Amino acid sequence: MLNNEFIKKIPKTDLHVHLDGSLRLPTLIELAKKEKIEMPAYTEEGLREKVFKKKYNDLGEYLHGFMYTCAVLRNPENLERVAYELAVDNQQEGVRYIEIRFAPQLHMDNKTMTMELILESINKGLSRAKKEFNAQKSVVEGLEPAFSYGIICCAMRMFGASFSPFYANFYDLHKFSHPMDIIKMGALELAKGIIRVRDDRGIPIVAFDLAGQEAGYPAGDFIDAYRFVHKNFMHKTVHAGEAYGAESIFQAITELYADRLGHAYYLFDKDKITDKDIENKQKYVDDLASYIAERRITIEVCLTSNLQTNPNLKNIKEHSFKKMLEKNISTSICTDNRLVSNTTVSGELKLALENFTITPRMLKDLLLYGFKRSFYPGSYSEKRKYVRSVMNYIDQIMKEYKVV
Ligand SMILES: [Zn+2]
Repeated sequence: MLNNEFIKKIPKTDLHVHLDGSLRLPTLIELAKKEKIEMPAYTEEGLREKVFKKKYNDLGEYLHGFMYTCAVLRNPENLERVAYELAVDNQQEGVRYIEIRFAPQLHMDNKTMTMELILESINKGLSRAKKEFNAQKSVVEGLEPAFSYGIICCAMRMFGASFSPFYANFYDLHKFSHPMDIIKMGALELAKGIIRVRDDRGIPIVAFDLAGQEAGYPAGDFIDAYRFVHKNFMHKTVHAGEAYGAESIFQAITELYADRLGHAYYLFDKDKITDKDIENKQKYVDDLASYIAERRITIEVCLTSNLQTNPNLKNIKEHSFKKMLEKNISTSICTDNRLVSNTTVSGELKLALENFTITPRMLKDLLLYGFKRSFYPGSYSEKRKYVRSVMNYIDQIMKEYKVV
């Protein structure tokens, strides 16, 4: 199964990939020069040594590079370009479906950079890449599944006035409010905006997410924003269980209506439970895992990223992905950040196959969950048709490479 050609050919997804963490390095350098953004180096080697490293000491160091990528992404042409390139990079390694996520308010100033323009620009890049790919003879003739995509918009769990011109204005306008109230209002404002943009402009904004520093900012604070998108039939995912444990994951599912979970790394870690009412912590963790598995709430697993940001995780084999597989939880392999984590979907899939017990049958399920539990834009009937075409193609490739 570790045959490179097989890994490339087999249809894959990436349901958790941040646009601003996944630029091509040469593009970042070119755009930083053009926009006169100061960086510690202007060569690939220099930036790999100083910013986008193989290993990071902590989350702060991991997040440092976003300062530069976000700085070059406050311009519609640049946004369109990086979205296009991200889709093409995925297509070239056999990824057929992606959901690109980003936080619109980090790029906004509400003057020249409005939410509408930002989403239009990203969608332009993605739809161009999709059209080009799907014009291939084999796709047109139905011999191979088409490429498709959705956009996920992230609210920030925490933001300061310095995060973007939009946030600076937002703090100015609410100077008598507590910072936490401002953060909650920011999330609700985003929720209202993206529903409007989706409905008025037909942009495939498929889900709402909560990203950024988890510690100190519990999911429960964002109920209003999540309830708003929920009422408007938008899907929900939440970065949960990266810093907090099982209760935070439970909260994401029950109070924020999460259909999927980003990371959920500490799902099984009973020592992360702080709620004193939970007496039998082991039972709580087991019950929760069973509940997640039974409800088919899919976990977006990002192995390399977790290795880089969790100092406690020394060996990939100790990753909770092992237990997720054992408990029959629906999981999907994702990159998180292609540039910052220096990875690809194929790379992550190989890492999973090399370090965990995954039979061909399990591999097929793992790949299919990515399509089945995607927030595919379009009706359920259209989604079923698309998933069916992928399923047939997976069977064909597995047969061809004798992966049975
Ligand atoms: Zn993420």
